[in-house]
Amino acid sequence: MATTSATATQLLSFTDARQAVEDYAARLSPAEPEMLSLLDAVGLVLAEDLTADRDFPPFPRSTRDGYAVRATDVADVPARLRLIGEIRAGASVDQSDINIGKGEAAEIMTGAPVPRGADAVVMVEYAVQSDGFVTVRRAVKKGENIVPAGSEAIQGSLMVGRGTRVTHTTVAVAAAIGRAEIAVYHRPRIAILATGDELVDINLPPGPNEIRNSNSYSLAAQVYAAGGEPQILPVAPDSADELALLLRKGFEADLLLITGGVSAGKYDLVEQVLASFEARFLFTGVRIQPGKPVVFGNVTFRDKTTPFFGLPGNPVSTMVTFQLFARPLIDALSGAAPQPLPFTTAALKSPFTTKTGLTRFLPATLGGTHKQPEVELVRWQGSGDLMAISRSNCYIVVPPDPEQFAAGEAVTVLLF
Ligand code: AMP
Ligand code: MG
Repeated sequence: MATTSATATQLLSFTDARQAVEDYAARLSPAEPEMLSLLDAVGLVLAEDLTADRDFPPFPRSTRDGYAVRATDVADVPARLRLIGEIRAGASVDQSDINIGKGEAAEIMTGAPVPRGADAVVMVEYAVQSDGFVTVRRAVKKGENIVPAGSEAIQGSLMVGRGTRVTHTTVAVAAAIGRAEIAVYHRPRIAILATGDELVDINLPPGPNEIRNSNSYSLAAQVYAAGGEPQILPVAPDSADELALLLRKGFEADLLLITGGVSAGKYDLVEQVLASFEARFLFTGVRIQPGKPVVFGNVTFRDKTTPFFGLPGNPVSTMVTFQLFARPLIDALSGAAPQPLPFTTAALKSPFTTKTGLTRFLPATLGGTHKQPEVELVRWQGSGDLMAISRSNCYIVVPPDPEQFAAGEAVTVLLF
């Protein structure tokens, strides 16, 4: 991968820039594992394989309320079978010791063990019970409504692998194998440095021409959700010396996210100050909108190499570029296998035209029905518009070629 050591422009396409961060991420490794309780582990990454402590299911399980039968006994219907017992979920050994002989059936509940002799379960809806007999009105195939023992997982086999991000589904597996604590990788430390003379912290009153620093907090939220430990540094003013001091602090983290000061303005000092630390730049811009001035590289400071991103300061640009480029590094530092971006397609609700020569990520709302998912642009005032992004739940991805988009047309959508 080509790098530039000065601030020479390295403007990449979206695809190339994404490839550059994925390649970089592939060389990173996670911190040490720790044992955490299941809920504390949610959002972090498994540092161990979860294996089956017994067969799943541990017994042939009925998936219906009904009657355990021999399929051959109900091949011709109606068929009248003698009831020899009842088997409840969690059945005692006595109940599950029932043995179904020819012409016999047992009443059975969902989740109960299918008794010996039986090879199918007739749903209660297709049977009528009276005087110790059941009349079956519909034939069943052998194996119908039964999940065989060990068919989901056999004892000792892999259920969820190391490198999987822990979600409610992982928690379910861990709980099902009796694990109250699981090994996950420590959250990587992600330093967040907002820059700009106009910024004031959220617990101070802003002057008439000042604005509150929202980026540090939105980024911290994105970092935390991605499994990182955000560390918000004090806001850096647009002064090279003070910026340099705070950058040094940021280089101590596993990844440094800087916001603002990467555009072409006179007081956009981030690249220049990074260059004074002999930073290596992998790109200094990407042909996207919002987020074109995004910068990626690394710095070796006090024998430690730290990757950094300079994210554009407009709040929506910060959010988009975090998701597109910073997220893969946090995944890798968290021990997660590489994750593709969550793209989908949906029908466009209203037409629009665009003409920028850039790959655009436009705030939108995905809705509609399960039969017809629909997506619609949110009206916005550009990449500083916090109201618009807070009403959105996705971006419509617009390719660089000038294009018109018609209502009903399928468009690519990037989910948050
Ligand atoms: P910059 O990237 O520094 O040129 O900033 C672009 C726009 O984003 C300006 O309007 C800034 O005031 C705004 N901005 C920069 N940093 C932040 C921040 N931390 N929180 C909210 N808005 C910001
Ligand atoms: Mg600025």
